[in-house]
Amino acid sequence: MADTADVIVIGAGVQGSSLAFHLASRGAKVVVVERSVVAAGATGRSSGLVRVHYELLAEAKLAWAAQAWFREWGERVGGDCGFTVTGFLWVEPTANRARLAANTAAHRALGVDASIVEADEIRRIAPGIAVDDEVAAYEPASGYADPSMTASSLMAAAKARGARLVQGAEVTAIQQAGGRVTGVATSQGAFDAPVVVNAAGGWAKRVGELAGMDLPIRVWRHDTGYLGVPASVPRPIPVVIDNPNAMYFRPEGSDMVLVGLEDDNQIGGSPDRATSDAGPDFELRAAERMVRRVPALIDGDFRASHSGQDGLTPDQRPFLGGVGSAGPAGFYLDCGHSGTGFKTAPAVGLGMAELILDGAASSVDIAPFAYQRHLDGRPLVGEHGEEVLWR
Ligand SMILES: Cc1cc2nc3c(=O)[nH]c(=O)nc-3n(C[C@H](O)[C@H](O)[C@H](O)COP(=O)(O)OP(=O)(O)OC[C@H]3O[C@@H](n4cnc5c(N)ncnc54)[C@H](O)[C@@H]3O)c2cc1C
Repeated sequence: MADTADVIVIGAGVQGSSLAFHLASRGAKVVVVERSVVAAGATGRSSGLVRVHYELLAEAKLAWAAQAWFREWGERVGGDCGFTVTGFLWVEPTANRARLAANTAAHRALGVDASIVEADEIRRIAPGIAVDDEVAAYEPASGYADPSMTASSLMAAAKARGARLVQGAEVTAIQQAGGRVTGVATSQGAFDAPVVVNAAGGWAKRVGELAGMDLPIRVWRHDTGYLGVPASVPRPIPVVIDNPNAMYFRPEGSDMVLVGLEDDNQIGGSPDRATSDAGPDFELRAAERMVRRVPALIDGDFRASHSGQDGLTPDQRPFLGGVGSAGPAGFYLDCGHSGTGFKTAPAVGLGMAELILDGAASSVDIAPFAYQRHLDGRPLVGEHGEEVLWR
């Protein structure tokens, strides 16, 4: 006989772990089935940036709600998520000042400590970086966290509240009867539940197919690397999204920076590909841009690089919630996080748990991310315009 739960969560990345934590905190009986181990997918490769600045206000709101969890991790979750406050700069050419200022004003209205800083101020905040005709949004209280620790900590807290984690269990079928999900079949046996959540990251399309759906989620492949930072590079180095150079970077400990590029991400392909290696020219391209922005890094050296994969939706924003008439009742989506779903996970899990248990999210607003927007042809777009993040 199959084990019975209230909710089955497919995937133990940061999203599945957060959802399990919030569901279990509410007393729901949760089983998380994970084909590998906690944080084996995108989460284990994530760069862990924790900032609020988004061009879509609904995303900024989720990131802002989540940041309170990162700040107060010990009291709210227990354990450690490795949150490190470094300050955060979102750099744009001055031609984009109006959009940057409008977004920053909206974030300030949420209560975020955010302001527009000019070149001189950018140089004061980050003395090692070269600034041209540029302007930035600055969030002094943002930084980065450790994604694997974050997911493990959430899962440990979920288990302490009664959740069950089954690792090495690949979901091979989603059972249905009368238009409703009834459970899953896995490589380690069957589990019954009236609710099944697709939190399968880069595998989300495949899991959707098991429920009879053709989700518009492609695999997004993103390379990152670690550059050694010589003592000659002025500190501190904050977290920086450097749009003029289509790049982001952040400190990793005291003598390295982690760097990722916004362009030339591979879109499509199998989620099963190995991620141990970055593309052949990644290090060269990343080093050239890093030296342009941080000239003293001319003496830096690449220590390592690799790749990671997430699920990408057409508007590069997640699908959160039920599937309406497009799929079976009781089937929920918490996927398509499109390369930016680490920082929002504590808030998304809260909203998803409320939606599943109460019929609506009350603490955070996840309604804009409903799958229905895709069916209606209403992609989400930043209120003041935007440039597509991944290209
Ligand atoms: C290189 C990289 C850098 C990133 N940097 C940032 C950043 O700085 N800030 C930020 O906010 N976001 C960032 N992201 C995005 C963020 O990491 C992801 O959006 C987030 O980790 C997604 O979490 P998840 O739980 O949805 O997916 P995942 O972590 O991929 O978890 C999905 C899990 O589902 C499991 N699974 C799949 N199929 C099945 C099945 N059939 N049965 C059972 N289990 C299954 C997988 O094994 C996996 O463990 C980055 C992503 C990458 C790849």
